[in-house]
Amino acid sequence: LAKTSGRSTFRFHNEALTLRAQQRFALETSLRRALEHEEFVVHYQAQIRVSDGRPVGYEALLRWRRNERLVAPDVFVPLAEETGLIVPIGEHVLRTACREAAAQRSAEPFTIAVNLSPCQFRQRRLVERIAAILEETGLDGHRLELEITESAITASADDAVRTLSALKALGITLSIDDFGIGCSSLASLKRLPIDKLKIDRSFVAGLGHARDDQEITLAIISMGHNLGLQVLAEGVETSEQLMFLRKHGCDLVQGFLLAAPSPVAEFIPSA
Ligand code: C2E
Ligand code: MG
Ligand code: MG
Ligand code: MG
Repeated sequence: LAKTSGRSTFRFHNEALTLRAQQRFALETSLRRALEHEEFVVHYQAQIRVSDGRPVGYEALLRWRRNERLVAPDVFVPLAEETGLIVPIGEHVLRTACREAAAQRSAEPFTIAVNLSPCQFRQRRLVERIAAILEETGLDGHRLELEITESAITASADDAVRTLSALKALGITLSIDDFGIGCSSLASLKRLPIDKLKIDRSFVAGLGHARDDQEITLAIISMGHNLGLQVLAEGVETSEQLMFLRKHGCDLVQGFLLAAPSPVAEFIPSA
């Protein structure tokens, strides 16, 4: 009996694996099709300067318009990374964001922040491709910011420093996204030519009540400032969190309290 049930468990497990593989394959196929049919759209979320409450930048966030619905990146970016599809998808986001930012005619120019996945970051000729997109869209490199996670950098620190330096030479601002949840050493941080730390929203969530989250946030702000970096807190949802961040000198904030991600037409006056 035990043997039989063992075998059927095995078969069940096997079928579940097959099903998962089929679902993944189907998703991969629809991702390819989505790219061809231009179903990927970009929304933007304001990054606000704490001192005067003004928007100084916008983060480009990928959405998939699929059958009249918007699919969030968490659902498909991991698979896009595994399959390498994130490279052409990410390039589409970069080109769209640069073009839409270059088209605006507001008096105060803002930066546009684009997320780079680890797989994109390690791509050969990344710097040339980004330079070509700046050229093609006419966006000044000083108006582009790239967000990179700690995991992209820790893999090969020397290569990372070279790539980051070359991007800086184009005038691009570099920030570390989701800072604090990865495992980059302070020594490696010191060597990187970066400009900004984005405090992961899991810490921001605890501000005002969770002692450890507050201590971590304070440590990141003070370390960032001591290294000459700007510090942004992401995922700010309550005025209590904002008050804490203002009181402790955080430079920039981003979150639903201030502005949700929205299509470009809602914030950029048309050119
Ligand atoms: P992220 O880069 O850390 O982006 C911030 C995420 O937090 C966004 O989720 C944003 O909508 C969400 N958010 C903003 N304010 C709040 C808030 O007050 N509370 C909470 N709970 N969340 C808030 P989204 O757009 O779903 O993106 C999720 C992740 O997907 C991003 O995290 C980023 O890692 C990835 N992603 C998005 N767009 C791209 C892209 O173009 N390329 C790549 N490689 N990854 C992307
Ligand atoms: Mg980001
Ligand atoms: Mg983030
Ligand atoms: Mg995040």
